[in-house]
Amino acid sequence: MNILIATSEAVPFAKTGGLADVCGALPVELARAGHEPTLILPAYRQAKTCGLPIEPVGIEFIVPIGSKTVTGHLLRSKLPGSNVPVYLVEQDHYFNREGLYQEDGVDYTDNCERFVFFSRAVLEAIRLLELQPNVIHANDWQTGLIGAYLQTEYRGLPRYEQIASLFTIHNMAYQGQFWHWDMLLTGLDWKYFNWQQMEFFGHLNLLKTGLVFADSINTVSPRYAQEIQTAPLGAGLEGVLQNRHDVLSGIINGVNYQEWDPAIDPHLPARYDAQSVGQGKPECKEALQRELGLPQREDVPLVGIISRLADQKGIDLVGAVMQEWVKSSDVQWVVLGTGDPKYHRLLGRLGERFPQKVAARLEFSNPLAHRIEAGSDIFLMPSQFEPCGLNQLYSLKYGTVPVVRATGGLADTVTDTTPATLAAGTATGFTFREYSSLALSETLRRACEMFDRPEAWTQLIATAMKQDWSWTRSAQQYIQLYEMTIARMRHAVHA
Ligand code: ADP
Repeated sequence: MNILIATSEAVPFAKTGGLADVCGALPVELARAGHEPTLILPAYRQAKTCGLPIEPVGIEFIVPIGSKTVTGHLLRSKLPGSNVPVYLVEQDHYFNREGLYQEDGVDYTDNCERFVFFSRAVLEAIRLLELQPNVIHANDWQTGLIGAYLQTEYRGLPRYEQIASLFTIHNMAYQGQFWHWDMLLTGLDWKYFNWQQMEFFGHLNLLKTGLVFADSINTVSPRYAQEIQTAPLGAGLEGVLQNRHDVLSGIINGVNYQEWDPAIDPHLPARYDAQSVGQGKPECKEALQRELGLPQREDVPLVGIISRLADQKGIDLVGAVMQEWVKSSDVQWVVLGTGDPKYHRLLGRLGERFPQKVAARLEFSNPLAHRIEAGSDIFLMPSQFEPCGLNQLYSLKYGTVPVVRATGGLADTVTDTTPATLAAGTATGFTFREYSSLALSETLRRACEMFDRPEAWTQLIATAMKQDWSWTRSAQQYIQLYEMTIARMRHAVHA
């Protein structure tokens, strides 16, 4: 199969979130499975300076943007460790900027125009590079217009008529919503600006556009695929998703086990696998406690958190539970994260007041993230919502028992510990449903009680470490989804 993946981010060219990890890793696995993926993304300043060789293709193109025409160029590179071709759409006025979508927390005012340009460029690139994709895989609102162009302006053109389209939602909270006059920039007929297609309460909504025009839609976990069909997680688009539920599915993101495996992790003071976890993990814990200035005690659980400090991640619950627990128990806490200033203040204050129990590292540090995954006993993710989540998957691999709220990808990847799941050997962590500090506190208490039962705890760790959330597995599911999408498109064309 020939697959064109259109994205606004891909590791190592440009990254602000999980989308970049997916689009950097999935194509490599698809190629390994014998398919022909091609990646296309904007040539941001970040991409051009990422250190990989990037060369001009020597192709210039012009697309209409509203009443003007804009010129762009195509650049070429490859995904590291593979032969996957990567095309970068160069248009310096739009993409040679400090950020990808914003600077100093403020969105660029021409974001709609920038991604109208990119979406049109993707369709032009197919013709100019003589690509023959069976399916275009678009991601998030930045590429929401691709399916619309395919179904309208490019419909019936020989090279395009057999192309199916898949649209992946990485987070419903970001929708690419713009004022209605930006409809003019798209060049599409006003007839599409209606509540069933591109309009959302008087605004142009590019995520909705992506959902409406794609042959298939998926998101990054089966549970999230269900949740977004209802309020509040549908973020206003639950009706659109209910309408399209027959083409909507969920696939859990894979983990890059080259980077996240305690057996080969260069950031750790001691490496370990499922056999040697009993020796390696305590060494990592002791080193982490030393590094963080916490008492080096093996007998108290060390609870780790690595997170964007945002409301979505349930940091208010974490704060409430920590405030209570620091007074009543010896449990130790390490929080690594940056984000909302209110959480910086809350966690910073707890760290200052209780230095023997709380280590607040309010920064971004990948090496420390690895050491926390290895050195903690318990990992906390009480998210309000979580499309997929990666840290719980890393935690499983590192034998760090996840305590999570049963939402989205967290619900799909962590099995709660009950007498039944323990007996069946399927328990991997602890989950709770109600979004409250009481529910989190009770669940954490269950985990800490189990921590004091070494035999059961060892079993939990062993089951966790056995889980396979590799990209190989997720890529197989994407391959099936592409096949289904192509069949669906053919069926629709001939219907
Ligand atoms: P999201 O994409 O919503 O932020 P995920 O769990 O899917 O959440 O992925 C977050 C990724 O970012 C993980 O790889 C996590 O380790 C990393 N991360 C988040 N905050 C930090 C931080 N302060 N330092 C290092 N890594 C971080």
